[in-house]
Amino acid sequence: MGLLVQKYGGTSVADPDRIKAVAEHIVRTRQRGDDVVVVVSAMGKTTDDLLRLAYEVAQAPSAREMDMLLTSGERISIALLCMALMDQGVAARSFTGSQAGIVTDTSHGKAKIVEIRSGRVREALEAGDVAVVAGFQGVSTDANITTLGRGGSDTTAVALAAALGADACEIYTDVAGVYTADPRVVPDARKLQRLSFEEMLELSATGGRVLALRSVEFARNHGVPVHVRSSFSWEPGTWVGQEDPTMEQAIISGVSHDVSEAKVTIRRVPDRPGVAAKLFRALADETVNVDMIEQNVSLEGFTDISFTVPRDDLSRAITVMEKMVAETGANGFTHDPDIGRVSLVGAGMKTHPGIAAEMFEVLAAEDVNIEMISTSSIRISCVVREADVEKAVLALHRAFSLGELE
Ligand code: ADP
Ligand code: ASP
Ligand code: MG
Repeated sequence: MGLLVQKYGGTSVADPDRIKAVAEHIVRTRQRGDDVVVVVSAMGKTTDDLLRLAYEVAQAPSAREMDMLLTSGERISIALLCMALMDQGVAARSFTGSQAGIVTDTSHGKAKIVEIRSGRVREALEAGDVAVVAGFQGVSTDANITTLGRGGSDTTAVALAAALGADACEIYTDVAGVYTADPRVVPDARKLQRLSFEEMLELSATGGRVLALRSVEFARNHGVPVHVRSSFSWEPGTWVGQEDPTMEQAIISGVSHDVSEAKVTIRRVPDRPGVAAKLFRALADETVNVDMIEQNVSLEGFTDISFTVPRDDLSRAITVMEKMVAETGANGFTHDPDIGRVSLVGAGMKTHPGIAAEMFEVLAAEDVNIEMISTSSIRISCVVREADVEKAVLALHRAFSLGELE
């Protein structure tokens, strides 16, 4: 008998019929003899609706009250799912994040889990109950209700799996696994059988929202095998886990895209030691999450520096830059929200030269201009116009034959 953590996303529990179907699957899992801890998201688009509601009553809603509001979505799901389970004859107990012992830091809206006190969940399991935990939420070290950032239920699930020593964490969603590209953009995207933590980290960090980035970090750090699969077809999906050294690695595993960032360029900054440190310290102090950074070759003692930030952080970045232009003697700055990023990810890239050249050629053939480039040992990313993103993803997926059988 094992222990499984199963997470169901918003579309998986969007209405009463879906909740009943999920309950049936949990009952089947119990009947096979496994203990089950379930993590659920808010139903359908509830979180988006609650966010909209907040901005209808206030221009800048308080971060504490926003977390109080958003966590109510998941509270609805846990109670309804427990009722459905009991109706099907299975004992179940619901827990808010706080009751499940998910302790976070104090950063509202993007809190990090610092500890899991899993006593109450363990007790429920020992009593033979299914424990149903509200995803995406916790209680801070100063006793306030917090949320973990969008998509945070994945993180709750993997963190609980790690804390409870579960055999696996199953992420049930509206697609059948991790694909070679977002199947909503690329109709012939192919489902991957397995993927290493490192590849999944790169995909999640560059827009592949099927797993939240933080959940993959947790899984890698604690060695939790993650199975991404469909709550509609229930067929086996994609295993994300330790790299298998006996298997040959695919050169390219997937192409991801992201249109949630903006680009900022500060012009003619004096090229001397300490200037970049000053700029990025000021941004960090305002919790602006800087992603890509590019510095041009210096010309006559001056240089341009570009960086990308989440669009949600742009207004804070602008305020910081206004100050920095004055303090560094730069010539001014520009900002551009209409950018997108396309990335190629693959472990085999490490040992296979020429992928970057090929990627740039494919983009050139589509007349897509590259505005910034960044790489890791298993990823190449290009910033392009937002309007060119879909065309670029489709062309790269085709050029690297990602839709064809392995
Ligand atoms: P959930 O509500 O279950 O958490 P999400 O909407 O957060 O679901 O994540 C699932 C979505 O991720 C899919 O519907 C798909 O559009 C998107 N997605 C992006 N990239 C990929 C990919 N490489 N493979 C599978 N799905 C992807
Ligand atoms: N309900 C939250 C969101 O929509 C958390 C989640 O679904 O993972 O982001
Ligand atoms: Mg999600």
